Amino acid sequence: MSAAASGAGRIVVVGSLNADLTIYCDRLPQPGETVQGNGFAVNPGGKSANQAVAAARLGGHVSLVGAVGEDPNGAMLEASVAGVGVDVGHVRTSAEPTGVAVIAVDARGENNIIISAGANGTLSPKDVADAADVLEGAAVVSLCLEVSMDTVLAAAQAGHDAGAQVLLNLSPYAEIPSALAGLADILLVNSHEAALFLGSSVPGAGAAASEWDAVRSRFGGHGVQQVLVTLGANGSVVLDSLAPAGSRVAFVQPTQVHAVDTTGAGDAFTGAVAVRLAAGDGLADAAAFASVAAALATTRKGTQAAYPEAADVERRLR
Ligand code: ADP
Repeated sequence: MSAAASGAGRIVVVGSLNADLTIYCDRLPQPGETVQGNGFAVNPGGKSANQAVAAARLGGHVSLVGAVGEDPNGAMLEASVAGVGVDVGHVRTSAEPTGVAVIAVDARGENNIIISAGANGTLSPKDVADAADVLEGAAVVSLCLEVSMDTVLAAAQAGHDAGAQVLLNLSPYAEIPSALAGLADILLVNSHEAALFLGSSVPGAGAAASEWDAVRSRFGGHGVQQVLVTLGANGSVVLDSLAPAGSRVAFVQPTQVHAVDTTGAGDAFTGAVAVRLAAGDGLADAAAFASVAAALATTRKGTQAAYPEAADVERRLR
């Protein structure tokens, strides 16, 4: 049964919507250089919109709180999230243009990305206050760092006050106030972001549980009790200081797939974790489900259009 059909709690995603403007080229230009591209695509993106779409495709009840411009990109983004059943009653329009990510991808899949926040930069604590109707009933509030820190902090506080689980994806990486670390029930980071947050590197693939247990303690020192560290093709690690001793570190093995495009895999993972937490799963079970969902998302080109449905994930889990 899907999360929606089982009456799982509401997921509120507060944050960004971007139009991804991608040019494909043989090699990326050097500063001052112009190169010929060999293809162009406009796709819906933005970490929060991606998370919302991932969660909705997996059967979650999702509301998105965000801002777009009064332009064709804004209409395209809103249609993309609404088209999979995300409630967009709190996606407002702004006089600023819709956020864009200008992306260059070379023949090896390397990329350069420049983001112009546009309307995302206008999302404020007032928008969070205006979304009180959906935040009050939320089971999970999912956040990333593509909107202002004040807004993220206000949303984390509102989620905390509502008794929701606050899921914070520390991406794109920025230093966060200690109050925000304290409000995040679960921090979701890739290994690069984990190292930046802790100020020192984290273990590589194949490291022992004892090494990760030391990392868990260091996160605890920052007031963070539950952490999911994603390791790309190597899976993920659950660091749970609230679990009984002996089960505070859990490795989630990668799902073996033929990956063709890993863009947005982290957002798929976050959306999938949110769905399973809202349905009442513990962190380790949610991570196991998300690992399959994110892996399946890498088997198709694109981001939102590549995200799997719950039945695809369940078939792979059996
Ligand atoms: P981000 O995109 O935020 O950097 P990761 O690269 O760590 O995040 O990927 C997030 C998750 O997506 C991983 O933990 C894993 O579950 C899944 N994933 C990513 N790349 C692959 C891959 N090549 N094969 C299988 N799963 C993958």
